[in-house]
Amino acid sequence: MTDFNAKELANLGVRTLSPYQAGKPIEEVERELGIKNIIKLASNENPLGLSEKVKQALQDALQGLARYPDANGFYLKTKLAEKFGVNTNQITLGNGSNDVLELLARTFVDASHEVIFAQHAFVVYPLVTQAIGAKGVAVPAKDYGHDLPAMLKAITPNTRMIFIANPNNPTGTFLTKEELAEFIAKVPSNVLVVLDEAYYEYVEAAERAPSVEWVAKYPNLIVSRTFSKAYGLAGLRAGYAISHPEVADLMNRIRQPFNMNSLSLRAAEVVLDDQDYLDESIRVNQEGMKQLVAFCEQKGLNYIPSHGNFLTIEVGDAAADIYQKLLHAGVIVRPVAGYQLPRHLRVSIGLPAENQAFIDAMTTLLHG
Ligand SMILES: *Cc1c(COP(=O)(O)O)cnc(C)c1O
Repeated sequence: MTDFNAKELANLGVRTLSPYQAGKPIEEVERELGIKNIIKLASNENPLGLSEKVKQALQDALQGLARYPDANGFYLKTKLAEKFGVNTNQITLGNGSNDVLELLARTFVDASHEVIFAQHAFVVYPLVTQAIGAKGVAVPAKDYGHDLPAMLKAITPNTRMIFIANPNNPTGTFLTKEELAEFIAKVPSNVLVVLDEAYYEYVEAAERAPSVEWVAKYPNLIVSRTFSKAYGLAGLRAGYAISHPEVADLMNRIRQPFNMNSLSLRAAEVVLDDQDYLDESIRVNQEGMKQLVAFCEQKGLNYIPSHGNFLTIEVGDAAADIYQKLLHAGVIVRPVAGYQLPRHLRVSIGLPAENQAFIDAMTTLLHG
């Protein structure tokens, strides 16, 4: 037993990996600080809660839970295929889009490869890259966002995959469809471009890239989306990729057959048709964004203009301390020091009263 050293047995990439740091759960803050009525603005969840139609569908679906889920997600894929004008064999379902991102890396990348992503980009990209033992190449950001020309220059013969989050989390930065189109056209076809559009629904319709249409033209492009944000299913875990059929076929070989469970499949099917819920999510987000932006302007706080459902605010050198003090005031936000943004905090857009609770707590801290 004394000779046992698990770390020496773990694969090389995993030994030095730091685990994903999730937003602090409400229950944990209640337990640790002994306070109630906590407001969580830390994980970009939908503040509306579950769609009523989904709640009903979940009740009905309880009956079937002793059975395995449909491993191929036939109904959900059929719905998605119709909605986006693609074939069902181009869709890969995931236990959240995080699952899809990991499947992509595990399917196509090995230890001899390089994977490109931007500084301040979603942490899952370096995480899945390092877990495989591949080399992550973080390209310095431009105005907190992706510097696409620099990312093109970073491509080497060893590059196998490029991750792009649009809008990006945690910065909320956004690439126009023109910028993206130019970039994708220049990437060699043996390099896969993963376009992570987790916040796609929040982007103004006129500004959205026709990314799914591009998949027909660029077989090396994969679009990933989620039900966790605007569709409000974060706790159920539902996401998907749209890709060339051969890409989907390869991913399917390592996908856990039941990676989406019966409840998440059913909820995703139902919420896709709930246009009222989606419209309301977008409206609440636009209102809340105005509320937080107005607060920042009024207090002279810098913020990164955001196209997502969150705002990343520069609160200064005391960011870690302010985060703690907000916790004690019952407001959970997200520190982003791990994203090389030690002076910022990311605040998810909540309901008006939740945003106000953050504003009030912050105001007290600023003047206290
Ligand atoms: C939230 C988020 C995701 C995915 O979340 P899932 O819940 O796993 O679908 C993916 N990419 C980005 C950039 C995100 O912010």
